Amino acid sequence: MADSCEYIIDSVENFWKIETDEDCKDENLEILTVGVNNMYSIANCANDLISGKDGLKLKAYSTYQRLVKVLDFVFKGAQLFQHNASKSGLPEEQLKPLSKTIDDFKGVLDRLKSDLPEDIVGNKNEIPNSSAIELLLELFYKACPDVDDIIYEFAMAFEARFGKYFTENKSCGLPRVVFICYVSSGIIVTASAVKWQLSFKKVMEREMKKKDKKEEEEEKNENENENTDRKGFDRVNERLIQWRKTRFPSGSTQTAKELSKKVFGASTAKKQGIGCVLKEQNVKAFDHSNIQGGAFHVLQGAGSILKIHRPCNKCRRMYNFAYIGPKGSVQDGRIFQYGSCAEDLCHVLLENDKVSDREPDTSLC
Ligand SMILES: [Zn+2]
Repeated sequence: MADSCEYIIDSVENFWKIETDEDCKDENLEILTVGVNNMYSIANCANDLISGKDGLKLKAYSTYQRLVKVLDFVFKGAQLFQHNASKSGLPEEQLKPLSKTIDDFKGVLDRLKSDLPEDIVGNKNEIPNSSAIELLLELFYKACPDVDDIIYEFAMAFEARFGKYFTENKSCGLPRVVFICYVSSGIIVTASAVKWQLSFKKVMEREMKKKDKKEEEEEKNENENENTDRKGFDRVNERLIQWRKTRFPSGSTQTAKELSKKVFGASTAKKQGIGCVLKEQNVKAFDHSNIQGGAFHVLQGAGSILKIHRPCNKCRRMYNFAYIGPKGSVQDGRIFQYGSCAEDLCHVLLENDKVSDREPDTSLC
């Protein structure tokens, strides 16, 4: 993976160069504070796992070391932002909550990094292209073999152990959805792309503002390129989407892509009856009915890290897992492009026989 992500995550400094756009200064600070709080929570969970008697053994696990790299990457970025923001004139008072978390985060991160070889955390280019929550779930699976191989039990045990560490109720800095599936040889944990944002609403408002501004500017300058004006966290999010794409094995998604095209076709042909249209065309979902699968919202609302999530319209039509929880009857017609959902990645990994087992030197996330 190192080669493919090298050009995307070229260095911490470039990745986290959040422009201090006057309009977004406060929002950037808020996004970073919430996201870093979440990363600090995950660091505390990892610390909990290594505080037991098998802690030192766990530090040799590749999942653990990769998780520490992700946390360290965010930590360095947050430090840079704090430094730049303070130089740019943001009042210290306003930076206080972020600075406090960064200090606490550093303390835990130092404990996590102790006894690890320097080249493991020092190399900037080999940062895993999966999220901290996926890695934590994989690590939990490996570290706690006593938990039943039932997704619901697994999620409950995860929640019971780690719930106390999470202070935020937004998934900022993490993916919005994770998908967990069990096969006989292990587990697959996947997610949608990591997003550094507080809510869709805020993004939409900003997009609208930008659009107005752009229309004004376009009158002045006709040659403006749409992608060059991405700033701050929009740019970070864009790069995270690209980065996640490198997790799809190349040349393996053709059939799934074709099926998703048919589903999209059916969804626009008839608003009320995607199922009927697909049946007429004899289009069938991928049969994973013997595999337990569960999608979860990450930190949606207070008091819960993982909340059962209904698959979107596309995933509901494309994948027939043995879903836990509500069968995913589609209520609001949400439909996401192929490749953007956690289920898409899970399906592709399944088709390629990629599964996480309990061995110390394997990591799928
Ligand atoms: Zn979906």
